[in-house]
This record gives sequence, structure tokens and C-alpha cells, in this order.
Amino acid sequence: MLLVQKFGGSSVATPERIKGVARRVVETRRKGCRVVVVVSAMGDTTDDLIGLARQVAGAGPGREMDVLLSTGEQMAVALLAMAISSIGERVVSLTGCQAGIITDETYTKARILDVRAERISGELDAGNIVVVAGFQGVNRNGDITTLGRGGSDTTAVALAAALGADLCEIYTDVDGVYTADPRLTPNARKLTAISYDEMLQMARLGATVLHDRSVEYARHYGILLHVRSSFNRHPGTVVGKQGCGF
Ligand code: ASP
Ligand code: MG
Repeated sequence: MLLVQKFGGSSVATPERIKGVARRVVETRRKGCRVVVVVSAMGDTTDDLIGLARQVAGAGPGREMDVLLSTGEQMAVALLAMAISSIGERVVSLTGCQAGIITDETYTKARILDVRAERISGELDAGNIVVVAGFQGVNRNGDITTLGRGGSDTTAVALAAALGADLCEIYTDVDGVYTADPRLTPNARKLTAISYDEMLQMARLGATVLHDRSVEYARHYGILLHVRSSFNRHPGTVVGKQGCGF
């Protein structure tokens, strides 16, 4: 079984949380799964980096913004890989470029054109857990690009498609997909299942639980998504062909 597990920024916001994610990943590995982990930048790192850029340059050139913003995820993969290694599992971290994520030239909102997954496959074959930096890729000139805010979801789904993963788990700070944002609407209801089309509609209307491009990608390649909390074991929401007709 090959699993892609994506952990968002709030799931890795502190050293303790990173250690918690490491334990969860190792648990999956020890059940005998091959695991590719995609991780976002810690907590508010991306916002902080954008703030720094504004202070020095107003709006920085897109190319330089992407060099800057990609560092958030690079930091997170290294720390998570160290935490996994300290529990005694073999692990390697990769940037988007090292992972073979090829994008177009649109800085700050690049589209994935191709995933050259040989490096990841090789690392999996060598027995490693592979931790990939979300939200970033490389364009045909060899320059770093980023995929737009929330883009790590899209990295995870693209890797799941390229590797033929059995499942793509999206770990976040809510228990799944709700009828409305549960952090703002107390009587929002959690859905056990939702179709790609329903999810896409919600994402386009502003639901931030999944990046809209990740849902388009999942629908196109038929990738089953499981959106769930990194803070508990409750089953979350399955996003697939079948919805629940809410
Ligand atoms: N770190 C990036 C952001 O804050 C990408 C992501 O979280 O998916 O938008
Ligand atoms: Mg997100």
C-alpha cells in the first residue's frame, strides 16, 4: 500500500506538533505502508515571509517571492525528517525541485505540468519515508516556483497521481469537510463523504479546507482523498466520485 499524507501548517506549527506528526507517519510506515509525506510551512511562516518582503520592497518581483516563500516548506521538511529519523526510521527530505515537480512559468501561482517521480520512487524502493516540500516546484528554466496559497494540497494530490497511490490523506486542524467553516459557524455539520464536484464548488466559494486546484487534479485522476484532523483519530471526510447529497 502506498499512501500520501499531507500535513498543513497548523499541524507542524510547533516543535511538539512536528514530533507528533513524525510519530503518526512512523506508525503508518510500521504498518507496512510506503509513505510519502507532503508538508506545508510551519504555522504563519508564509505570512511572515510575505510581511518581510513588503517591508523591504512593497511587492517584490514574483521570481524572488518564490525563492523566499519556498524556504518555509524547505525548513519544515528538514525538521520533520529529523524528527522521523530520531524515532529510528529511514527518511529523506526533498524540495519540490528534487521531487521532480515541474511547473509553468507563472511565479506565485504556477501550475504543475509534470511530475517526474523517479527520485521519489527510488527513495521508496530504498526503504525511505519521503518527505516532500509542498507548494513548490521548478520551471523549465530551473527556477523555483510556488503554486499559490494553500498549494501544498495540490502537491500531495499530484504526487498521489504520479505514484499511483492508493489514498491521499489531507491532515488539517479541523475534523473534515463541514457544511460551513466550523471555526466560524458553530452548528456546521461534518460530512462523511462529498463528491469532487460538490467539493470543487465549495472550494471555489471560498472554503479553504482544500486548495481548489487539488480537487480538480483529484477529480481528473480519480484520486481518493481523506480530509481528517492531525490532532485526533476521528474519521474525516472522504472526497471521491460519490457524495452524500447534502
Ligand atoms: N505555506 C503555503 C501557504 O501558507 C502553502 C500551504 O500552506 O499549502 O499558503
Ligand atoms: Mg490549506
